[in-house]
Amino acid sequence: MNRLENKVAIITGAARGMGAAHARLFVEEGAKVVIADILEEDGKKLAEELGENVIFVKLDVTNEANWKEAVAEAEKAFGPVDVLVNNAGITMNKPIEETTEEDYRRIININQVSVFLGIKSIIPSMKQVENGSIINISSINGLVGGAVGYTDSKFAVRGLTKSAALSLSKYGIRVNSVHPGVIETPMLMHGDAKEAIKEFSKHIPLQRVAKPEEVSKTVLFLASSDSSYSTGSEFVIDGGLTA
Ligand code: NAD
Repeated sequence: MNRLENKVAIITGAARGMGAAHARLFVEEGAKVVIADILEEDGKKLAEELGENVIFVKLDVTNEANWKEAVAEAEKAFGPVDVLVNNAGITMNKPIEETTEEDYRRIININQVSVFLGIKSIIPSMKQVENGSIINISSINGLVGGAVGYTDSKFAVRGLTKSAALSLSKYGIRVNSVHPGVIETPMLMHGDAKEAIKEFSKHIPLQRVAKPEEVSKTVLFLASSDSSYSTGSEFVIDGGLTA
């Protein structure tokens, strides 16, 4: 299938986890992909493995100058950018009384301010293409409560998706948010967390956690013209957890 033939996509946080799964599927569907991450070794390795239509760019999503450089590198390698997946993120799971101001500002910066910077930085490039698509990875914690800081940042990503969708529709740029439930990635599957997640999966209506590839299929749909009339919308992939 070639649903992204001749499309240029930047995927942040694509050195591992869900972002890496999106990069693999996008390449299979004919896209030229920029893996943008702070994890240099993993990102370069994946880019090499995926072949000539993929480059790695070192990007700290909280740094506006870095964003400008990343977009310029993408354009130099492949031309104007059709698709931006704002996927990079971190988690935090502390009670509010143990959360410092520094902890709080850090997660808001990485999960939320980064999405604003990404959208702002990509506009000049995306205005040059037809059917630009921005996909912001939020969470079910952008729909229902969860850990402090994480939840707040993911609700903000959902709001930013709607405000950006309204502002950018005049350029034909669509902006949508994706809200995954519990997905098997390095963010969650480490040490003791593995056992806790196994236990928790009994409470998920579909009785299991998801593979990253199950989220990639929705991200692909939003990146492609299959979703040409969707903008400012929320796509939930959670096995029924928030139903
Ligand atoms: P992950 O930890 O496996 O991958 C996150 C990637 O983001 C890493 O490659 C990391 O290097 C990168 N990153 C972190 N800070 C960065 C920065 N400042 N600049 C550039 N890159 C940075 O996590 P994942 O589970 O694949 O998560 C991907 C996205 O999905 C995140 O936004 C996360 O909040 C969201 N999400 C995850 C789950 C889940 O269950 N795993 C559920 C809902 C939403």
